Amino acid sequence: MPELPDVAVYVERLRALTVGQPLEKIRIASVFVLRTFAPSPREIEGATVEAVERLGKRIVIGVTGDRWIVIHLMIAGRLRWKPRGAPVPGKVGLGAFDFPTGTLIFTEASPKKRASLHLVAGRAGLAEFDRGGLDVSGASVGDFAARLTSERHTVKRALTDPTLFDGIGNAYSDEILHAAKLSPFRMTSAMTAQEIVTLHRACIDTLETWTQRMRAEVGDGFPDKVTAFRPEMAVHGKYGQPCPVCGTAVQRIVYADNEANYCPTCQTEGRLLADRALSRLLKEDWPRSLEELEDRRRPAGTAPTPAKPAPAETAKVAKPAKAAKAPKSRGTRAEPAVPEVGADAGNTAPARGLGRKPRPR
Ligand SMILES: [Zn+2]
Repeated sequence: MPELPDVAVYVERLRALTVGQPLEKIRIASVFVLRTFAPSPREIEGATVEAVERLGKRIVIGVTGDRWIVIHLMIAGRLRWKPRGAPVPGKVGLGAFDFPTGTLIFTEASPKKRASLHLVAGRAGLAEFDRGGLDVSGASVGDFAARLTSERHTVKRALTDPTLFDGIGNAYSDEILHAAKLSPFRMTSAMTAQEIVTLHRACIDTLETWTQRMRAEVGDGFPDKVTAFRPEMAVHGKYGQPCPVCGTAVQRIVYADNEANYCPTCQTEGRLLADRALSRLLKEDWPRSLEELEDRRRPAGTAPTPAKPAPAETAKVAKPAKAAKAPKSRGTRAEPAVPEVGADAGNTAPARGLGRKPRPR
């Protein structure tokens, strides 16, 4: 799923290519993609692009008359910039937006049809798409800590929850947690002040480094190689490969649509997280699907909701990968993850410490 660095660079390039240009034509190629009836694509055609913004993981294009195009790429959705009038590719094409300067093609390389397009009249209508996640790059440690501990979750789950944090998904949460040397399954309620400071810094540094890297790669072109799997990543998509810091084989846990990749030596004191306590924890802590997580919303002022028990299903815990260069002192033999999981299992969720702040426009 394109995350903050990918979406930020899409937005920057779209802004450069389309602001001030008339949107000549909207071509809808898939019956699944357009999720709204009014305004219609015909009504928006001819309007001039005034703004391109990021709203969490969504891309928002504003045109004259206070009308908005909301694009959510979900997992397999991508955008491409082609010469004006380029055809929409048959199998993966969802639609196209034609400008005098070129054509924006919207594709989804998946039969699941999760990517979406909404046309909205009035900026107020955008509130429906704002999950309210905190943009970590501009947040103080205090705001970050309040948000992180406002609900009791594993830290991996908290980082990827769009109602808590903005623009972080499976890939960058793996990279952030590796940089912070934190277990993905550490409970937010059990984190020390120092761990929270370290995590805050790791979020900012990781997202900024990747945004700059993509920006440099794309230059004045268009991001057409957006992928969650990049050779420069430390642990995400690197199951079985050596950790770039210590050489230990990267481990992986897969549950429903979610995946955590981690280095046992750097992040879990050598423990492999693969036991029944972990399976139980995942069932309690993780939504069943990415859509469920992406669509999650919590009205302002309400108390955090306790995690819903998921239907009975065993977490698929990946078989441990063989250590590429196992360190002698800290073996990778499986040990119970219980101390981390169960230490404060009886705690109730802490009161929400931070009111929903209006997003700066
Ligand atoms: Zn390591």
